Amino acid sequence: MKETLQRIFGFDSFRPNQAEIISNLLDNKDVFAVMPTGGGKSLCYQLPAHMLEGLCVVISPLISLMKDQVDAAKANGLAAEFLNSSLSAKERIRVFQSLENNQLDLLYVSPERFAMPEFIATLKQLKISFFAIDEAHCISEWGHDFRPDYLSLSNIIKHFPKAAVAAFTATATHKVSTDIVSKLGLRDPHLTRASFDRPNLFYQVVAKEDLDLQLLEFLHEHKGESGIIYRTTRRSVESTTEFLQEQGVRALAYHAGLTPKQRKENQESFNRDAVDVVVATIAFGMGIDKSNVRFVLHGDLPKNMEGYYQETGRAGRDGEPAHCRLFFNRSDIVRIRYFIDQTESPAEKKVAEDQLFQMVRFAEVHCCRRKSLLGYFGETYGKDNCKTCDVCMGDVERVDATESAQKVMSAIHRSGQTFGAVHIADIVVGAKTQKIRQMGHDQLKTYGVGKDQDKKYWRKVIDNLLAQECLLQNQNHFSALEITPKGQQILLGKQRFEIIRKKGVKKASFAGLTGDYSEKLFSQLRSERQRLAQAEGIPPFVVFSDRTLREMALYFPDTPEQMSGISGVGAAKLEKYGDTFMTIIEMYKHMHPEEAQKRSILKVPIKIQKKRKKAGKTLSETLTMANQGLTLEAIAELRGLTEGTISQHIEKLLEEGQGDGFDMDQLLDPAKRLQVEELFNQHGNKSMKAIIEASGNTVTYAELRLVRAFMQKSE
Ligand code: ADP
Ligand code: ZN
Repeated sequence: MKETLQRIFGFDSFRPNQAEIISNLLDNKDVFAVMPTGGGKSLCYQLPAHMLEGLCVVISPLISLMKDQVDAAKANGLAAEFLNSSLSAKERIRVFQSLENNQLDLLYVSPERFAMPEFIATLKQLKISFFAIDEAHCISEWGHDFRPDYLSLSNIIKHFPKAAVAAFTATATHKVSTDIVSKLGLRDPHLTRASFDRPNLFYQVVAKEDLDLQLLEFLHEHKGESGIIYRTTRRSVESTTEFLQEQGVRALAYHAGLTPKQRKENQESFNRDAVDVVVATIAFGMGIDKSNVRFVLHGDLPKNMEGYYQETGRAGRDGEPAHCRLFFNRSDIVRIRYFIDQTESPAEKKVAEDQLFQMVRFAEVHCCRRKSLLGYFGETYGKDNCKTCDVCMGDVERVDATESAQKVMSAIHRSGQTFGAVHIADIVVGAKTQKIRQMGHDQLKTYGVGKDQDKKYWRKVIDNLLAQECLLQNQNHFSALEITPKGQQILLGKQRFEIIRKKGVKKASFAGLTGDYSEKLFSQLRSERQRLAQAEGIPPFVVFSDRTLREMALYFPDTPEQMSGISGVGAAKLEKYGDTFMTIIEMYKHMHPEEAQKRSILKVPIKIQKKRKKAGKTLSETLTMANQGLTLEAIAELRGLTEGTISQHIEKLLEEGQGDGFDMDQLLDPAKRLQVEELFNQHGNKSMKAIIEASGNTVTYAELRLVRAFMQKSE
């Protein structure tokens, strides 16, 4: 398995759950897997399809996607084809021929085909290894995407009792899951439910003020990256698209009001990196298989968390960092509420209201976004700080606001819990409105108790009370504010109330991202990818993913061995594209000799180093690298260890007499060494700490230790 993973796909290790799914399929067992978008589903069936004898039939709901999927499989050297109505008669004959000759690993078909007896008859004559059902939730009426055609898949097991069936979905709810298993009749399937956490996504909510400008600002900081902007209505999609186009952004619109042809064209342009941005309604969905979507922005509040998760999930499928930013303003609630009010069925209305409430809570409450999102799917996020959301990365400030909360709630209480937020704020600041006079609220004890602050402040307090569930809005009564039991506690002085404010947001740092790649080379590699993709009529990310190109721009691989050490470069791609990309790298090095020199220390890709890493070998690795003439800093970076640890290794190696090949001037800048030697001469009898202080903190422990080891050796 592992060998195939490396050879065919060029990946080092399996993503979570992939290995178990694959080994079950190799054992001919049914599988039911819930995996989030970008979790790496296709590999789960493509890999065993290649290893097993016979044909793997993949059922996939979207004809528009099949070609890309097949192209991607072919690019890795798999024998894959698809059958659907878009094929010409000639092409169809070709596919049937390779089927009959048992030449295929994978055949992609649409579910409709399973309603056709002739097709079933054809399949029955072939050796089938297993069936893979993509987007399996389409079989369930409970899901958000029910497709009657999928019901014909219930017959698979009847027709092909010997073949295993693997069903995949990214839909999380348990109800849909059980439904899928029973409708397909899976036989004691191996169940996996991957975590819905997408660690490479950065979640952020910002206050929506002037949306178009805010979007433009974001795009400015993310020039040349691919992304999606979601808006709720066709009109807003069009106006935002127009605005962005005027501003020179390469953007296209996508919504249900366009003709199917226009929609298809716009989606293709996006897929092929001909435009950077698609501004879309939620109609832009399942068909997006593009792996290098770097951001998903929501210009309006989504209707529910499930939708929000699916939409943001389209970012960063390649595992590289991607941004999810939601622009939020309370006026969006009014808009959604309006639509909810049009709903006739009380049950549906209730569901929609609950969903809205959860969404608002997600946007307003300042607790880790990841935690709230996963919590919605019934998953507990273990860490205290996710490091990739605005709340965790920002300085959060807690301000005691118990007294303010009491003033507001007392006004609510005294006015009979029948008024909305605007009126309550008016009472607290002592406004002289007609409504106040009419209701006689200027006689209330709380009238004007909050004069010292403006209305905006009191609205904020109310928002926070709502978000922390101390108040609720009575939806059946003009959104009147009511006090919850939790609010009572605060009103009675039994509990404190804190407003959590966000201070600035620090720049996100993504764990595992090696930032120091050459952007110039990266963009040259990208252009080449674009050219190749165009020539072959496939999307650029099928040639190589962003991550793969970025690794190339980091390591400058220029031999086939090094190239195959890059993530995403398997044997087929090495053979097909290796030379082209190595030539570009070669030329780039030629044009930029200084940069090439600097990069030469990275000659051996990190991954190869890591692969060999074993506990006992750690010293010998440092030995090898030091003998190669790497600097202390470079060794530490390559090995993912601190300079302190590496200097200890060196010390030990010198003690053991293994360091004869070390070149001190390579390990440490000679000027630095002289400085340290001088320090030792002056303060030789003092502790390391004192020496560092004496240097004004210009030297480190690691440097001291290293120089001392060499000095002792030469004594
Ligand atoms: P899904 O269908 O689950 O949304 P894909 O199958 O399209 O996801 O995979 C998403 C991305 O992850 C693809 O670019 C794929 O090449 C990559 N990928 C899959 N498995 C691995 C792995 N084991 N290591 C590295 N990348 C992987
Ligand atoms: Zn967080």
